Amino acid sequence: MKYISTRGQAPTVDFAQAMLSGLAPDGGLYVPETWPVADAGMARPGIPYATVARSVLTTFAGASLPAGAVDAAVARLVERFHHEAVTPLVQLDANLWLLELFHGPTAAFKDLAMQLAASLMDAALAGAGDRLTLVTATSGDTGAAAVRAFAGANRIRLIVLHPEGRVSPVQRLQMTTVEADNITNLAVRGDFDDCQRLVKGLLADAALRAQGPLSSVNSINWARLAGQIPYYVTAGAALAGPAPRFVVPTGNFGDAFAGWAARRMGANVGGLVAAVNSNDALARVLADGVYSRRTTVETHSVSMDVQAPSNFERLVFEATGRDADRTRAVFETFAREGTVTLDDDLLTKLRAEVSAETVSEAETRAEITHAWSAYGQVICPHTAVAVAAARRLDTSAGPVVALSTAHPAKFPDVVTGALGFEPQRPSVLEGLEGRPEYCRTVEPTLAAVRAALD
Ligand SMILES: *Cc1c(COP(=O)(O)O)cnc(C)c1O
Repeated sequence: MKYISTRGQAPTVDFAQAMLSGLAPDGGLYVPETWPVADAGMARPGIPYATVARSVLTTFAGASLPAGAVDAAVARLVERFHHEAVTPLVQLDANLWLLELFHGPTAAFKDLAMQLAASLMDAALAGAGDRLTLVTATSGDTGAAAVRAFAGANRIRLIVLHPEGRVSPVQRLQMTTVEADNITNLAVRGDFDDCQRLVKGLLADAALRAQGPLSSVNSINWARLAGQIPYYVTAGAALAGPAPRFVVPTGNFGDAFAGWAARRMGANVGGLVAAVNSNDALARVLADGVYSRRTTVETHSVSMDVQAPSNFERLVFEATGRDADRTRAVFETFAREGTVTLDDDLLTKLRAEVSAETVSEAETRAEITHAWSAYGQVICPHTAVAVAAARRLDTSAGPVVALSTAHPAKFPDVVTGALGFEPQRPSVLEGLEGRPEYCRTVEPTLAAVRAALD
């Protein structure tokens, strides 16, 4: 399997190269050259998660990784998850389901792909005898999942920037209490946008580049998306019959695009609904064709506080019929002007692929209360956005699956505020307090960050 850039001006690469470089050199995102068709055997209800993950990743990685790398990565993932089914489906109502994705080491769905990506990157580097530095900005969940996945990796150094005081205490401790030589945590005296700006600066820093290859592990990385396809396949297989619609709590549109890919590959996936909070660029563009950047607002579902969802570019590429020139024009205009108006034919095609629902802060809190009283489920604010959106759909037309992306105990303030009691912590979140923390605080300048890394 080869990978091409959505902007059409980068050489074709294999899976290992796409994974190790993250973004394509022309500024585009890697996508498979052609979409494979999922093995028909994957549609069997009750098929083990590991079987599906091995099949999907082998299809995408092909011969670009050393023999046995995919099997070993999947085995490690399953071993680190605390549920037999890995991603269990829980029934809420006649035709309403919750797909629980939070049974991993940091209790958020990012573990599913990050654990795989860490193993696969290590294997790819071992094959080439290389080392890699990864830099990432986080509003909480990505950093935690990355630290736990990459801690101890021999060939990878991981640098994580989080905004000081703006991640939940649990999220901070998940990152900072890990003692590993290859991990550097930086608490930036600024906001998440400062962290993202500094990461861009680091990735372009000549002195750092001279020390060896640099990359990032956010969801522009194709390996992250590939690792999120299996749970759509297993959930679609379990609900054999009319294809279920999936409601995905969306930030950078990585999770939702993985669902799109699963459907494109023939999995039993019906509609895809992106559920967004007040950072609603995706809902606005689908409503009126104007894709525009606004100031990010802080919400209860912090991991979805994204104004320009990076994976929207992959969807636009597909909706244009894989027209790289047109895709490049859209995103270059957007980068330059902060706004771009899509042609009517493109908008019609996008609407055929996904829809979007915006959920307010008040609705998010109300859904946490409702899910407890109606279904006996304690859910996190991100999951609440998805369930609130799912309940707007007509479930008489077939099953609806809301993705549950984090354990409620990661966000105790909002959940306790809505329910009046604290969510119970799963074992992976216990014993974090009181441990030594490994983290340095830095001013939000590139010079300060560079000095902290030397
Ligand atoms: C990252 C995250 C999301 C959003 O996922 P995207 O792939 O960025 O759309 C939703 N919920 C939680 C808990 C997350 O950590």
